[in-house]
Amino acid sequence: MLSHSAIDVLSKAEEGPLNQEEATELMADCSTEMLVAAAGRVGNIKSGGIITYSRKVFINLVNLCRDTCTYCTYKKELMDPLLSMLNPSQVLAIAEQGKNLRCTEALFVTGERPEQKYPEARTWLQSHGCASTVEYIDQMSRLVLQKTGLLPHTNAGSLTKKEMNMLQDTNVSLGVMLETSSERLTEKGMPHEDAPSKNPKVRIKTLESAGELRIPMTTGILVGIGETPEELVDSLFVIRKIHEKYGHIQEVIMQNFAPKPETGMSSAPAASFDYFLRAVALSRLVMAGMNIQVPPNLSPEIFGQFIDAGINDWGGISPVTIDHVNPEFPWPSIGSIKAVTEERGKQLRARLAVYPEFLKGGFITSERLQNYINLVADESGLVRESYLR
Ligand code: SF4
Repeated sequence: MLSHSAIDVLSKAEEGPLNQEEATELMADCSTEMLVAAAGRVGNIKSGGIITYSRKVFINLVNLCRDTCTYCTYKKELMDPLLSMLNPSQVLAIAEQGKNLRCTEALFVTGERPEQKYPEARTWLQSHGCASTVEYIDQMSRLVLQKTGLLPHTNAGSLTKKEMNMLQDTNVSLGVMLETSSERLTEKGMPHEDAPSKNPKVRIKTLESAGELRIPMTTGILVGIGETPEELVDSLFVIRKIHEKYGHIQEVIMQNFAPKPETGMSSAPAASFDYFLRAVALSRLVMAGMNIQVPPNLSPEIFGQFIDAGINDWGGISPVTIDHVNPEFPWPSIGSIKAVTEERGKQLRARLAVYPEFLKGGFITSERLQNYINLVADESGLVRESYLR
């Protein structure tokens, strides 16, 4: 039975920001039903009846990686038939397909600094006149922007301030998942033991440096990789505190862990639906005014329930490319996402790779980037309906 104190905390959660102790209490004591109901009410206020998604192409630029996370199937080795090292004409072909299907986002994804581990990656980058993966991302972002007008958003793992400053000229936003604030998960036998870039200190530094540069930033949590409920709550508060300081976290992705064959965590249990739903609801109560996203392809059939738990975004959906990080989970069609969204009494709208509230406030400093944004955005900052026809 719900304690009186948890009931008090839950009603407070709808009125103002929870503190970490209160959120931990809710995660431990509150029924899922009550947590979801409260988060749904707070989410309704945030969404204003609109759930967004970004129409994108996923450009799998290079999937070599110097790190090893024990749940990952994105990273490939040199002889793997699914190794991806895209040359400029391949990048452009994907972006042009996206342009033809009214996409607005070019999502660039890479493994973590492949050039530090693979001489072949260094040679490949040098053949394109680049000394690092980030330099090549910058080059490809410029190419895609100029030739197609698709707005680049890069997730290349942990980046330095100097590297992000370079990408700021061509990328409307950047992304790095915090995944977890738990340093315990970097210890021997844990998922991030061989992934120095996943040390929370490194990820937090990247997020803070982006804040100093005023770059709209996507981050998020990978739920169910072995964290305790207390560590999950702590991760939410780490993100909230960074946003309170810099105001630049444009969205928080809540992603559920699902074990994959032939990985170190293949026999680990998936995040249960109940635990994940509670985590999503709590994220809304902890970050009432922020954008919360759940990728619908990772919870096919039931993703509508995350609207009930207060989310306001479905993330990037592609009519062109697969989700290269989770290729076994195809994206639902945009038509079916629209139907599920409308069943919940909400309207589905396409957004840019930068959220409307970050089009103001000095976040986009490049005039050229602003001009490309103006071509596709309406006065609300979402994608102009006429562009999608
Ligand atoms: S850093 Fe990213 S790409 Fe590399 S192993 Fe970890 S999850 Fe995979």
